[in-house]
Amino acid sequence: MRYVSTRGNAPALDFAGVTLAGLASDGGLYVPELWPTLSPDEIGALRGLSYVDTAVAVMAPFVEGTLTREELRGLCDAAYGAFSHDAVTPLVQLDHDQWLLELFHGPTLAFKDVALQLLGQLFERFLKGSDQHLTIVGATSGDTGSAAIDAVAGREGVDIFMLHPEGRVSDVQRRQMTTVGAPNVHNIAIRGDFDTAQALVKAMFNDASFAGRFRLSAVNSINWARLMAQVVYYFYAAVRLGAPAKPVAFSVPTGNFGDVFAGYVAAKMGLPVAKLVVATNVNDILARALANGDYSSRAVVPTPTPSMDIQVSSNFERLMFDLGGRDGAALAGQMRSFEDARAIRLTNAQTQGAAGLFVGERVDTDEMALAMRHAHERSGQVIDPHTAIALAAAHRHAEEGVPMVTLATAHPAKFGDAVERATGVRPSLPPRVGDLFDREERFVTLDATYEAVSDYVAQHAVPRG
Ligand SMILES: *Cc1c(COP(=O)(O)O)cnc(C)c1O
Repeated sequence: MRYVSTRGNAPALDFAGVTLAGLASDGGLYVPELWPTLSPDEIGALRGLSYVDTAVAVMAPFVEGTLTREELRGLCDAAYGAFSHDAVTPLVQLDHDQWLLELFHGPTLAFKDVALQLLGQLFERFLKGSDQHLTIVGATSGDTGSAAIDAVAGREGVDIFMLHPEGRVSDVQRRQMTTVGAPNVHNIAIRGDFDTAQALVKAMFNDASFAGRFRLSAVNSINWARLMAQVVYYFYAAVRLGAPAKPVAFSVPTGNFGDVFAGYVAAKMGLPVAKLVVATNVNDILARALANGDYSSRAVVPTPTPSMDIQVSSNFERLMFDLGGRDGAALAGQMRSFEDARAIRLTNAQTQGAAGLFVGERVDTDEMALAMRHAHERSGQVIDPHTAIALAAAHRHAEEGVPMVTLATAHPAKFGDAVERATGVRPSLPPRVGDLFDREERFVTLDATYEAVSDYVAQHAVPRG
């Protein structure tokens, strides 16, 4: 399997290459040269398989030429063995047709562990035996940071620099990043919002002289390996609810468009997906883009769902590329216009292509709280605010006879204050997070300027050999 850049001007790479690179050298994102497919019989054969067996079957075509099935299985065993639930991503029934897919049983209590625990294994595998030192630079709205740090803390040959927007992540999220004592972990609080932090990271990748001095890598969902790992649970859930004979719908709380793009990949691979509900909070660029092609970025409004407080969704570029005829030069032009004007109109091919599968839904804070109360009172489920955004959106699309799966992306205790406000219940942190509130925090706070951040990274990173 080979991977090409969405902007058409970077070398095609194999799976190991895209995993280590993250972002393509032309500023684009890597996607498989073609979508592998599973036949209905092959999908039917997934029914009853364990999570790891499902993962191997779904991911094998993407790693072909780089890893054998046995090697892939070994990495999946190591990645998913650390989850606190034997099903890894269990389904929970809410009512007749509504389901929750719990993705938060990993070490840092959010769905990002599903991808990042595997990514940590992949990095170690691909760096073994080389004298290369990897400098991971990332921006987080909260959950990527803790999951990425957990996945690489203490590993040899890797340093991680994680930028988070000061004061805009929850206490649990911040402490999960800043109380990890490993010397290869560097936390930076940025005086700005998430989009600013993400732009600073992109600027380091695009600075040829900086990128020449350090072997940079990304753990944001721009890294293809993360999306690939997320495709698995769409299959895992759907076959348990009747696929391939019956289509299944999903509602996905969306920020960077990574998780829901993985659902698109599952559909491209042949999984019968009835609908992908792209649920946003009031930061609704995606809901607007999908409704009428208005892809324009506004100021970010802080909400109780910080992981979705995003107005530039990196992975949307992958969808625009695929729906726009995979024309890298055209897409590069479109993205340049967006970077200049912060606003573009999607092409007809893009809007019509998206309309076949996606539907965008904006959910405000009141509706979110209502969905949390509803889940608690009617189904006995305490859910986190991000999940509640998607559940509220799922209710709008309930269709008789079509199972609707809401992706539960975080453990409610990660956002305990918001949950308590809505439901009166204070969810307790599971024992696996230990003495989070007693450990010492370690981070620096920097101005949101390229100079401040790149200087800090340069002073603390290991240059190329
Ligand atoms: C990251 C995150 C999201 C958004 O996922 P994307 O892949 O960025 O769309 C939603 N909910 C939670 C809890 C998250 O951590």
